[in-house]
Amino acid sequence: MKYVDVFRDAELAHQLARHIHQQADPGRHYRLMEFCGGHTHAVFRYGLPALLPDNVELVHGPGCPVCVLPVVRLEQALELSRLPEVILCSYGDMLRVPAGKGQSLLKARADGADIRMLYSPLEALTLAQQHPERQVVFFAIGFETTTPPTAVLIQRADEMGISNLSVLCNHVLTPAAMHAILTPREGEATAIDGFIGPAHVSTVIGSEAYAPFPRQFGKPVVIAGFEPLDLLQAISMLVGQLNRHEARVENQFSRAVTPDGNPKARVLVERMFERRSSFEWRGLGEVPASALKIRPEYARYDAEQRFELSAPRAREHPACECPAVLRGQKRPDQCRLFGTPCTPDNPLGACMVSSEGACAAWYRYNRGR
Ligand code: SF4
Repeated sequence: MKYVDVFRDAELAHQLARHIHQQADPGRHYRLMEFCGGHTHAVFRYGLPALLPDNVELVHGPGCPVCVLPVVRLEQALELSRLPEVILCSYGDMLRVPAGKGQSLLKARADGADIRMLYSPLEALTLAQQHPERQVVFFAIGFETTTPPTAVLIQRADEMGISNLSVLCNHVLTPAAMHAILTPREGEATAIDGFIGPAHVSTVIGSEAYAPFPRQFGKPVVIAGFEPLDLLQAISMLVGQLNRHEARVENQFSRAVTPDGNPKARVLVERMFERRSSFEWRGLGEVPASALKIRPEYARYDAEQRFELSAPRAREHPACECPAVLRGQKRPDQCRLFGTPCTPDNPLGACMVSSEGACAAWYRYNRGR
């Protein structure tokens, strides 16, 4: 833990917190959104809200891949899983997400569907080779961090001439979601003064990807690492910019993030995927150019082309406040289902399912405070 412990030093954390107290103008309120679900968990795990002044508020964003996936896309995966020739595979978190009528991929598996949990998309290649008589479908979700591995899967399948594999692509784009958050809906105020930019995503897309937000919206972005000192320093940098009426992109996580990210990964993603004209996000609704689909040159690996999929009606729990939570308009504990009956063991909405979901983080670390 040599290279991690230095970013968890308690004395330095208190020094940074004291500095933020000195910086924060008592005459104003600072609402800072940590976009990434990993940051949300770190914020609670290290008790950072207790170290901050009352007028520096952390708002939880939509950076949790399973939380933002609309139920319609999950219903399509369920539909595929019911085809006898299909082996459907995805990441573990996805299996527990509730769809309509108490359904989930986990329940479908208990009912006999062939649904497998993967740690890496490349495991789907092995499945396809082991079961040449079946159709292996990878239910791909996630932001820019998980897109390159899906691109590698398609590239490898193409190189190996594997024809019984396809991808149900649901990869989404972080800057488009940030743009949607900063574009208020009718009757809603823009809730955010600045962003704590995501760590993993930024290693791929680079810090330059956030340049439009200061320019277009006048909002600062500070990319941060996952450790408590990273986050406290990023908060201090944001408060400093806001006090000086500045709006810039700053990179606190310079030990991992560069201005142009990972060009090799970006080239591969660009080769395999193109932007959808629009995509429906849970919480954010339809967001233009905010998701990827497989390019026509690789359409043979596109499950949407290979199978005839219907567009089922979404049936989320009517009282679930995930949409407002994901837009930073409500805290998880302001949902009347929070804690009773919605818990990590009995999730009624996607934000309670994933280890990166805001409701799950609030339940685990903040309940009863
Ligand atoms: Fe949805 Fe449960 Fe969170 Fe309420 S507590 S917003 S029902 S996930």
